Amino acid sequence: MTMRSVWRGLAVLGILMPLLAAAAVYWLFYDNRLPAGSRFPLDLAAIRTEADTVPGAVPDRIEVEVLAFRQAPRIVMQAGADWAPVDLIYASYRLVWPDRSIVVDSGQDEKSAHAAGVAVFERPAWRRLQAALPLADAIIVTHEHPDHIGGIIASPALATVAPRALLLPEQAALLPARWRRMVQPLRYASLKAIAPGVVLIRARGHTPGSQMIYVRRADGHEYIFMGDTASLAGNVVEVRARSRLVGDHLAKEDRSAVLGQLWALQQLAIADPQLTLVPGHDGTEIGKIITAGWLTAHFQPQPAPQPITDAPPV
Ligand SMILES: [Zn+2]
Repeated sequence: MTMRSVWRGLAVLGILMPLLAAAAVYWLFYDNRLPAGSRFPLDLAAIRTEADTVPGAVPDRIEVEVLAFRQAPRIVMQAGADWAPVDLIYASYRLVWPDRSIVVDSGQDEKSAHAAGVAVFERPAWRRLQAALPLADAIIVTHEHPDHIGGIIASPALATVAPRALLLPEQAALLPARWRRMVQPLRYASLKAIAPGVVLIRARGHTPGSQMIYVRRADGHEYIFMGDTASLAGNVVEVRARSRLVGDHLAKEDRSAVLGQLWALQQLAIADPQLTLVPGHDGTEIGKIITAGWLTAHFQPQPAPQPITDAPPV
């Protein structure tokens, strides 16, 4: 090899390497092409009809506990967005009736949360959640990732809590076998009412066990808890999925399915702007929803535990 060919090789490399690096950055952080055929049926009329199949009073209020906080560049959670930090929170919700409650998502314990990069862990909120789990008539999760199901697994009262968990097989798979046998199995095709005004919406995509949760409050206000189908409000507003770095390589999600779901949610938000869409981790958006009065901050003290036989029909 002559010196001339060496220099020529280095020159080619000098051009190629920046191009390859730019292509990798584009692919990992900016690519958001909506594959043809990415469609998801999300029919609000059908969801409302399903919600009415369980007779009785709908929840009076919905409470939220913010269990943990961190920041990440927005572009990591929303492909093609800016690199400025976005506030990410880890939350649990409780649907409250005068005589019953359903907990939605459960965060994860302090050690696991810090190991996953959480900056602030709210111990008082965690204690209120752990006190609420054994009192709940049902515990459901938007999906099986540790930051949503971990609060169930870490419960010091798991023998009481596990039978109250209503989980899809894909969600229950993360529980140790001994506890997996104790949960209430859940199977359904597309929609399933589990209590008056509460409907599960099957939404495989972010994970195989992902679902969204529709709730109608006693005053008629409606919600969809989107889980990590939409971690941020911007995922829906701009129909932008998580970056491929997170979606493809960390979460290993079905990107085409997620984009179809985001598109359907955007269409729903346009058609029915009164609907409150609750994202999985968007601290700013969830703060606005609390300020607007659609969510009540903190789990309030609850009356005495209900026997498990009072669980809502499933
Ligand atoms: Zn999550």
